[in-house]
Amino acid sequence: MKRQKAVELAQSRTVPVIRLPEGKVTDFYGSNTFSDEVMKALLSPEAYRKVSLAILDGDNIDGTIADEVASAMKSWAVSKGATHYTHWFQPLTGGTAEKHDAFFDISFDGKAIEKFKGSALVQQEPDASSFPSGGIRETFEARGYTAWDPTSPAFIMYNEAGTGTLCIPSAYISYTGELLDSKTPLLNSLTVLDKAATLVANIFDRHVTKVTATLGIEQEYFLVDKALFNSRPDLVMSGRTVFGHPPAKGQQLEDHYFGSIPPRVNAFMVDFELEALKLGIPVRTRHNEVAPAQFEVAPTFEEINLACDHNLLLMDLMKKIAKKHNFEVLFHEKPFAGINGSGKHNNWSMSTDTGVNLLSPSTKPKESLRFVTFLVNVIKAVRDNADLLRATIASAGNEYRLGANEAPPAIISIFLGSQMTQVLEELENKEIVKIEKGENPYIKLGLNRIPSILLDNTDRNRTSPFAFTGNKFEFRAVGSTANSGVPMMVLNTIVANQLTKFKEEFDKLRENDQGKKEGVVVKILKRYISECKDILFEGNGYSKEWEIEAAKRGLSNVKGAPEALKAYISPSVQELFETTKVLTRREIHARYEIELENYIKKVQIESRVMGDLAQNHVVSTAIKYQTRLVENAKALKDLGLNKESDAIVSLIKEISSRIAKIQELSEEMTEARKSANNEVSVAKRAEMYNSNVKVYFDKIRYEVDKLELIIDDEDWPLVKYRELLYIR
Ligand code: ADP
Ligand code: MG
Repeated sequence: MKRQKAVELAQSRTVPVIRLPEGKVTDFYGSNTFSDEVMKALLSPEAYRKVSLAILDGDNIDGTIADEVASAMKSWAVSKGATHYTHWFQPLTGGTAEKHDAFFDISFDGKAIEKFKGSALVQQEPDASSFPSGGIRETFEARGYTAWDPTSPAFIMYNEAGTGTLCIPSAYISYTGELLDSKTPLLNSLTVLDKAATLVANIFDRHVTKVTATLGIEQEYFLVDKALFNSRPDLVMSGRTVFGHPPAKGQQLEDHYFGSIPPRVNAFMVDFELEALKLGIPVRTRHNEVAPAQFEVAPTFEEINLACDHNLLLMDLMKKIAKKHNFEVLFHEKPFAGINGSGKHNNWSMSTDTGVNLLSPSTKPKESLRFVTFLVNVIKAVRDNADLLRATIASAGNEYRLGANEAPPAIISIFLGSQMTQVLEELENKEIVKIEKGENPYIKLGLNRIPSILLDNTDRNRTSPFAFTGNKFEFRAVGSTANSGVPMMVLNTIVANQLTKFKEEFDKLRENDQGKKEGVVVKILKRYISECKDILFEGNGYSKEWEIEAAKRGLSNVKGAPEALKAYISPSVQELFETTKVLTRREIHARYEIELENYIKKVQIESRVMGDLAQNHVVSTAIKYQTRLVENAKALKDLGLNKESDAIVSLIKEISSRIAKIQELSEEMTEARKSANNEVSVAKRAEMYNSNVKVYFDKIRYEVDKLELIIDDEDWPLVKYRELLYIR
């Protein structure tokens, strides 16, 4: 569609009326899920008990029970208008996958029946040859299968026609047992975390028998009118604008942030939130973000596996519902140059089966030590594994957001807030040899004063990639398109590993120290605190000074994704995954290669789109405009207006020199791409795309954006930033 027509269409949109369901949110919340309540009502007590145990303890579900659950699921789903079912899984492409089968079948005697057996619930075999496996499947010639994850409730997704598909959250595994998805390692990491954290929690409270991780994901996104989106091939193909001059009014005024939500956007939000609530996704917060046309949605936190599933589902839902509202959602980390990017803030904590948030400061002095123990262990884990954590957020999209020209740097640091920093400093400097029996350890350790200082801890630092925010950590550097399961799997694993080390040290020291255990705990924490000083940073994480300071401290600042991803295959990381049994060496290596492949594909697509737009949209328009200018200059000259004619001629010169530059650079970029494509090693190829192909992006863009300022607005073929960002 031509730019003007798209703009007209976008401007003519009206605000749709959203029909709200009757009753309160609690009346329809989770109504499209095969929830605990539904199971209780439809299953026999025995089957219900078995499924509950499977959810709580990971027990296996046998064939007869599976048949009963499948049958109940089918009746429930069919009664709600579902005609198909699918295993819903997370292949390593980053998104989700599904293959729908009908419940409808023909029985052996030719009758039409509705069928869904336990075996189909428990396991399915998608034709998975097109999902990435990083070489695993080819080598073993193993087919993949999907396996039901009972810990995440099945749900019904409806299509435009109003019929539904029963979606069964599943793991995806090769027949030789290799993990081919993002969910299964996350589940593994939870097992490891549970074991390690429970042992440490037991130092303080014997009643804890299970620890799980909690997660609340704040999701940022941009919203652009569908017609405008479709008229920008770069947005359609790569999710970001490769060209576009920043508008006169950018985000300098910061007037969009927390401002009133535009009515059309609000209608979209109400609509997708309704559907999300029906799917049991506890969406709670909606607001404008810093950049124009940027927004955020955040649910209440949940158990981490569920939170990750729900985030993927929510993204899916948002894309679908946006289309209905003539919008397109942009999840790309940096869709617009010069304007804030989007992230996915992962609010993470650990909680016990006794109902305690292990990262929440308590009003009881006794519990303060437990809190500080977990807090310091998380800090230590992040500090000792910063490069690995950095690898989990490396992607082609996030590369524009981390360590690029305008974005935050790619340095992992931790923000604690002034009060918490003070608490740790005091603890570190306490002289403690041994706390004698009969002494009150909390008074001696100064831990009796913590709660009052901490409970009003309202410090916020929006520039920190990893911030303590009162009762949880917020990992803010995760990209907005990411599957949170990946960084969260790593966070769980490194914290589990750290807690295990801590417990071993504690046990060893305990043997010799006959005093109170609190003294022993603090002895270890004191050392950790002093070892972690380098990663703690309270200042402006976006400043140039921080980059310099971080370099002095020896912190990594890896800008390119291919380089950052290398952390996955470092010997210590491979050992970490192997000893914790979260991933095997082969699986880790496969993931590394898949990430590189993804990176290459994305940069390649962008580069091609850029070449195409530059040539067929920009240069061709510039030439036409130039021709008009030439005629104009000639006419002026004929009239004897030499000075005026000269002014036009200099404009013509500028245009032609920019055209020449664009063509020259585009050709060079194509050559760079060719030689990268000839490289056999995937690691080297990714590196070449990063350093030899991508370097042309800014250079070509510079010339094109200058042309945008010169050429008549009427003629410019690409929808402009001011239109993309301000029409809604
Ligand atoms: P912010 O000021 O960063 O917007 P919020 O209080 O809105 O903070 O919380 C952001 C997210 O953190 C929400 O999704 C919230 O549910 C989640 N959150 C709160 N407590 C926890 C916790 N203990 N574990 C995990 N996430 C949590
Ligand atoms: Mg936040």
